[in-house]
Amino acid sequence: MDEKPILWIVIPCYNEQEVLPITCTMFLEKIQSLVNRGMIRDESRILFVNDGSRDDTWSIIQKLTEQDSHYRGISLSRNRGHQNALLAGLMESKERCDITISIDCDGQDDIDAMDEMVRAYMEGYEVVYGVRSKRDTDSFFKRTTAEGFYHLMNRMGAEVVFNHADYRLISKRVLEKFAEFEEVNLFLRGLIPLVGFRSTTVFYERRERIAGESHYPLKKMLALAFDGITSLSVKPIRLVTLLGFIISLISFLGVMWAVIQAICGKTVWGWASTTSIICFVSGCQMLSLGVIGEYIGKIYMETKKRPRYIIDKRIL
Ligand code: UDP
Ligand code: MG
Repeated sequence: MDEKPILWIVIPCYNEQEVLPITCTMFLEKIQSLVNRGMIRDESRILFVNDGSRDDTWSIIQKLTEQDSHYRGISLSRNRGHQNALLAGLMESKERCDITISIDCDGQDDIDAMDEMVRAYMEGYEVVYGVRSKRDTDSFFKRTTAEGFYHLMNRMGAEVVFNHADYRLISKRVLEKFAEFEEVNLFLRGLIPLVGFRSTTVFYERRERIAGESHYPLKKMLALAFDGITSLSVKPIRLVTLLGFIISLISFLGVMWAVIQAICGKTVWGWASTTSIICFVSGCQMLSLGVIGEYIGKIYMETKKRPRYIIDKRIL
């Protein structure tokens, strides 16, 4: 690839009025330095996606677009969550650029890794995953829960790149193919590897949030993990089947044992064991129904084919 690419940096923002005024200049300086070093074309842009923020995020974005022509913005009609906001930004960019890099707006991901990402693209890689080399700045709790998250995902059959969040370079070609994936249950980290093409990883250090608060407390992270697993793999259903099989086998052996005991004249007069078995088995059944229900819920949402996001305003 000899042609210099046009880069669009896509940044989802939800209630980020505290951090946006600080990080926006970092992104602009990055674009300018890449342009000055002849790595990308000057038509490159920074696209902010306002994900239905309740604070002044959108008015800050509007002001930025007036200040410098590199800044662009779109605003969603309401809050649709990080993944949908990112998708909206990527889909809007794909007609206008050669490569996109998605990054959070809180300054946690080292923007200098972009240099290496662009270099990897020039070497012929179409997807470049930003991978955190260490998590010293995260709290012990965040670190262990996050690492558990990746292990759980992979165990459950949802292939994800370890310690990679949503900081990645994607080429226009991959985005065009990705646009054909029409699912409503979005989990970009698991879906992009499914598109295929040549990919590589770039390591960077993750810092602390510059300002504002994380929108991913434990509850949301668990929801994301569960969503990721159930939208990418049917392994949990298989596990449920296996569990059902094992329990039936154990129950069968139990029944045989009780019959033999009865034949030998040792009648069982305790009801506790019976009750506990009933409780245990019905618990397992409830759990299994819940897991299967989750998949049915997903099918339900997919059959509706509702739009994944609605754009209210565009400054492109
Ligand atoms: N975000 C979003 N919509 C949401 C929640 C978050 O667009 O409903 C954005 C947020 O503004 C940030 C990115 O997604 O740019 C990641 O969120 P956050 O930094 O809170 O997550 P963490 O880094 O703690 O996992
Ligand atoms: Mg963050």
